[in-house]
Parts: sequence; structure tokens; C-alpha cells
Amino acid sequence: MTLFQKIIDREIPAYIIYEDEFTLAFLDITQATPGHTLVIPKTPTTSFMSADTKTLAHVQSAAQIVAKRLQERLNVQDFNIISNSGPLAGQTVFHYHVHIIPRYSDKDLIIEHGSHADAIESIYQKISTNPK
Ligand code: 5GP
Repeated sequence: MTLFQKIIDREIPAYIIYEDEFTLAFLDITQATPGHTLVIPKTPTTSFMSADTKTLAHVQSAAQIVAKRLQERLNVQDFNIISNSGPLAGQTVFHYHVHIIPRYSDKDLIIEHGSHADAIESIYQKISTNPK
């Protein structure tokens, strides 16, 4: 079982900002930029390459809903929507996921672990439909 399955099962906590029948979206713990979110299918599959077409569609559709919420709540317009597929591509959690990374400047994107992680609670409060 992967870490993301444990987030789906609520065995480990996450800042969940969107959920529907097929998908879950939560803030990435590293916050490469403020609002960095992961969208995952509830039915596990290893990667983009193993996902069936319905799963791909559900995840992309949820990703757009989430990105629109980020646009509105964080006043950001542009995004990188990325899926790392396989270890050589940097995939570290083998449950298919899409990164939604809001862009606040056009400088090269460097995914630095923890770069904005200290602000995750306040970012969550801005984005969540049900702030704590
Ligand atoms: P990958 O490297 O597989 O494309 O992305 C995995 C992502 O999962 C990384 O960006 C990493 O920061 C994130 N991540 C790893 N562990 C956790 C965790 O416990 N909680 C959350 N919210 N994100 C995590």
C-alpha cells in the first residue's frame, strides 16, 4: 500500500481540498510554490502509463476544478500540470498523481522540498471549502 492510499483511507492526515467519487486532491507537503496540489484517483494504479482512459479523464477533470479554485483563491493565473511517470522521471510515490503547481513568476521551476511548507496551513485556509 502506498502513502497516498493511506491518505485516501484517512490513516495519515493531509490538507484535502477537493474530493469526488473518483478522485482526491490535497496539498503537496513540499509546496514547491504556494498552493502546490496533488490530484490522485481513488482506485490505485501505478502511474500515468498504467492508468485507464476513464481514470485519466477523472483526474484531469478534477485537476481543472482544483486549478480554477486556486486561480480564484490565490489570485494566480498560470500553472504547470505535471505527472512524473517512473523512477527515472522522478516519480517517488507509485500511485498515479498529477501535480498542479501555481506559477507566480517565470523563473525556472525548481521543486525544492519544503520551500513553502511552513505556509501550508495558511494556504489551506485560503483554498479549502471547509477551513478548520
Ligand atoms: P512524485 O515525486 O512521485 O512525482 O511526487 C510525490 C509527491 O508526494 C512529492 O512532491 C512529495 O512532496 C509528496 N509527498 C510525499 N509524502 C507526502 C505526504 O506525506 N503528504 C503529502 N501531502 N505529500 C507528500
